Amino acid sequence: MEMKPQKPKLQKPRPIAQKELEPRPCQHIRILDCDKPISRVFYECYYCQQGLLSECNKVPPIREIAVTCPNCGRTAIELLGQEVVSTTAIPSPWRG
Ligand SMILES: [Zn+2]
Repeated sequence: MEMKPQKPKLQKPRPIAQKELEPRPCQHIRILDCDKPISRVFYECYYCQQGLLSECNKVPPIREIAVTCPNCGRTAIELLGQEVVSTTAIPSPWRG
């Protein structure tokens, strides 16, 4: 088998795809029961800061799930899990 030397292709720099959800270091999140099949995740909506509680099934296969905020209808957070069992609006634990 003959190996042809491959010329390195010049690739045009692609525009970086804009993800809807930019990392936000100050987004509050607290995960409870992470040792159980279903963990409870307390967090605030990325957009409207509504306090939210999601129950998340952590049994593999794990994927990224975009959780829709029940308050503003946008993506509140992305969680890792098999499925989000429920999402409930709660008073934010980080606001007093
Ligand atoms: Zn929201």
